[in-house]
Amino acid sequence: MINVIREPLIFEISSPGKSGVRLPALDVPERLEAVEGLSLREDIEGFPEVSETEITRHFTRLSQMNYCVDFGFYPLGSCTMKYNPKLNEKIAGMSSLVGVHPLAPEKLAQGNLELMKILENLLCEITGMDAVSLQPAAGAHGELTGMMLIRAYHQAHGNPRKYVLIPDSAHGTNPSSAHICGYVVKEIKSNDRGTISLEDLAREMTEEVAALMVTNPNTLGVFESDICQIAEIVHARGGFVYMDGANLNALAGVTRPGDMKVDVLHLNLHKTFSTPHGGGGPGSGPVAVKKILEPYLPVPVIEEKDGQYYLNYNRPQSIGRVKSFYGQFQVMLKALAYILALGPAGLREMTETAVLNSNYIRKSLEGIYHLKYDSPTLHECVFSDKFQKDFGVSNLDISKRLLDYGLHPPTMSFPLIVHGALMIEPTETESRRDLDLFIEAMKAIDREARENPELLRTAPHITYVRRLDEVQAARNPVLRWEGK
Ligand SMILES: *Cc1c(COP(=O)(O)O)cnc(C)c1O
Repeated sequence: MINVIREPLIFEISSPGKSGVRLPALDVPERLEAVEGLSLREDIEGFPEVSETEITRHFTRLSQMNYCVDFGFYPLGSCTMKYNPKLNEKIAGMSSLVGVHPLAPEKLAQGNLELMKILENLLCEITGMDAVSLQPAAGAHGELTGMMLIRAYHQAHGNPRKYVLIPDSAHGTNPSSAHICGYVVKEIKSNDRGTISLEDLAREMTEEVAALMVTNPNTLGVFESDICQIAEIVHARGGFVYMDGANLNALAGVTRPGDMKVDVLHLNLHKTFSTPHGGGGPGSGPVAVKKILEPYLPVPVIEEKDGQYYLNYNRPQSIGRVKSFYGQFQVMLKALAYILALGPAGLREMTETAVLNSNYIRKSLEGIYHLKYDSPTLHECVFSDKFQKDFGVSNLDISKRLLDYGLHPPTMSFPLIVHGALMIEPTETESRRDLDLFIEAMKAIDREARENPELLRTAPHITYVRRLDEVQAARNPVLRWEGK
């Protein structure tokens, strides 16, 4: 990473008259009348003028200040951030697949519709559910869609109900989705194993509760082993079990939400199935449902008749469209390529490796970093800064110091039930060597906390940008070049 020179703004390297290309002089009369009325701008004041070399180097240097999954590993917990095969990007870019106009008639898009149908069927098989809609464009969008299905069902049965129960270990998007869908969120406290307490659930689960939203494994990485009993309690009062399946690389190929009596879940094709997560998309958050919720799925639904695929809009109970056209088709293609390339045994291996890697980190750092919950964990583990706090070093300082080791920090201060949390999800794509580099860095930082805490409190020291005043940065961001 570059940390020696200060990269100037492009405005600072501008010098009048420079340009990237030199075109021959115009040998015909200039005619702008044709485009008049199109708000053609005569000049852009202060527009940077630079050579091709300057602009190429400027942006290449800027790009190298960013951390990315091609550079190193992201131990972020709660969101799978893994390396994805480049081959799938190539497939998603094949013009024969993606050159189809989104408004092309169905009979000219048979191949695309068939691929989507195959993906739907595979996702049904992987999740143990009955039907899938590929429309939602992200995990949170899938949650909202799922909650809308639940609401539509209850509404059709006379009463949409009022509450949605959500454990304190859920992903943060869950309460927002329930709220946006018009529900009042009631929090269920975790027990000392970090799972849902059946007694609390039984007490809160009334006929005014529309659903329980459960992230499984939850954000502590703990599998809700009572999930079937949980579902029975919820079903007995006419509620639905919504499962957040964003990090399905903790389960796929080993167990299936459908077999755990889950009624509806979303998956993140970005994250689990070969599209990088982060960077603002595109994503895809399909929703999978049991038969009981199928009539409410968004329109159109892809169906097949006499060997022809078509889009069925004639679904009177549907909640309507949630996304334009076909959803994020290229993300679906990558997921399909990934699933077919791995096959059932490969998907299982993906999951087992994700769990193994996480437990390798957990065991290696146990005793050095504090673990609030000692329940067995799956794809992620949550340490805290409790031991380092004795030396005045916080999770923020540890994270900042990791930057000096060339590593991306883990998720911090979440879940809220662990004070000073450091939440780590290594994913299945990291090698033993990369995991060891991370573990060694974490051990070294713990030693530094004892020997030289000031070093951590002022970290990072060798990055391009040093420690920022985060409050100032959020309240008073400098977003405009003032020419100073
Ligand atoms: C990432 C994630 C989400 C949200 O997905 P987006 O695509 O970012 O909207 C929801 N739940 C869990 C558990 C997640 O990891």
